[in-house]
Amino acid sequence: MKILIANRGEIALRVLRAAHELNIGTVAVYSMADKDALHVKLADEAYCIGKSFSRDSYLNMENILSVAVLAQVNYIHPGYGFLSESPLFRRLCRECNIGFIGPHERTMELMGDKVMAKEIAKKAGIPVVPGSDGEVATEEEALRIARTIGYPLLVKASSGGGGKGIRIVEREEELKGAFTASKNEALANFGSDGVYLEKYLKNPRHIEFQILRDEFGNAVHLGERDCSLQRRKQKVVEESPSPTLPADLRQRMGEAAVKCADASDYLGAGTVEFLLVSDGSFYFMEMNTRIQVEHPVTEMVTGVDLVKEQILIALGQELSMKDKPLELRGHALECRINAEDPANNFAPSPGNISFLHFPSGNGIRVDSACYSGADIVPFYDSMVAKIIVHGKDRAEAISKMKSALYELTIQGIKTNQEYQEEIISSDFFRDGDYHTLTLDHMRG
Ligand code: ADP
Ligand code: ADP
Ligand code: MG
Repeated sequence: MKILIANRGEIALRVLRAAHELNIGTVAVYSMADKDALHVKLADEAYCIGKSFSRDSYLNMENILSVAVLAQVNYIHPGYGFLSESPLFRRLCRECNIGFIGPHERTMELMGDKVMAKEIAKKAGIPVVPGSDGEVATEEEALRIARTIGYPLLVKASSGGGGKGIRIVEREEELKGAFTASKNEALANFGSDGVYLEKYLKNPRHIEFQILRDEFGNAVHLGERDCSLQRRKQKVVEESPSPTLPADLRQRMGEAAVKCADASDYLGAGTVEFLLVSDGSFYFMEMNTRIQVEHPVTEMVTGVDLVKEQILIALGQELSMKDKPLELRGHALECRINAEDPANNFAPSPGNISFLHFPSGNGIRVDSACYSGADIVPFYDSMVAKIIVHGKDRAEAISKMKSALYELTIQGIKTNQEYQEEIISSDFFRDGDYHTLTLDHMRG
């Protein structure tokens, strides 16, 4: 048995390790910029798939599939980002007789399109964020529908992801400009320009549920992650459980997440994202049909290895926890450490890491593919490490994170380490009193 990992960085290592533990062979692929990367060194086999830009390598389906066929792999794990949510790639894998560790092509098509996903959720009886019924084709139509929704509202790309393709519109005069800007950004980033409108909810929390579903229709949720601490719609700190979610809401939202999984005939690990507003109403926002960056916080509180579960489900096994009620134990936090310069509007800060020391110890986990001497190349995502802690309760988790961030040493490049320390030490974080705009209000 052999798995090809069509990804790089920390998630490639995460999948490699899970495969090693399961005694499954591993094949890494890498771009020219990544020839010295750890995933290349740790895999049983490794093959270069092209030049440094993602479109020439990690997004190059032909090159990846050629390696997969020639190396005779049984499955491909796509990680997150890159091809992980591409139904076309999934279909090509099938046509090449290679398994895909992820949901069915049809599920990816339906849930990858945010408009269709909302339709499915709605049909399943789950409240969705109010907005246009489907995509909006013209500016005139947008203006007309916007009047029924009211301002402020969001223009969102149906195919969007990673916080891209979203525009806030405060007043009618701004709608035309935002409509065009969102369409263009969507076309440039996702290759399709469909957009829709959504009511801009006031100070919501981003609460998402991890789900697992096997091919026999067994489905569970593994509790929530609170990802409300975002900078410009990108997640910065994540935690499980949420500091403020009452048990009855957890149960209702978890049931809604499982309904989404059933309604889309889901296979594997997925995430259902909701927005929760202060009166306790929650709304389906989107579903991500892949492993998520912040999956470790769920692993820490449930004790479930989500990547191993993904692999075993793809191999046709039943969910390992289908008959055991899941218990959430303690509290976990994750801080994303990015190579970026907070003093320069968080601009990416690639370069050579001259010295690196990661914190460790009881309840501390670091997921990263960096090492002393490694180059952070400018071609990909700027995330360099995820610092994850697990404490018996939230207060202990916060102390551990403070101590871990204090110990973390990355020299040679600029990072958001101090920004993270500021967040973790803040009163609003200690009190769990935050929402999706808190960080944008904190400073620039
Ligand atoms: P998560 O949703 O797991 O928290 P992010 O939203 O930070 O993760 O996205 C993880 C990675 O995947 C980032 O590199 C992001 O740019 C990329 N990504 C997410 N969604 C898409 C998409 N629809 N198309 C392309 N890249 C995406
Ligand atoms: P992506 O696919 O890029 O992750 P999402 O649709 O998940 O896009 O939205 C990203 C973030 O934008 C959310 O976590 C939330 O902070 C904010 N957001 C999205 N839709 C709304 C909305 N209708 N009202 C308020 N905030 C929203
Ligand atoms: Mg999202």
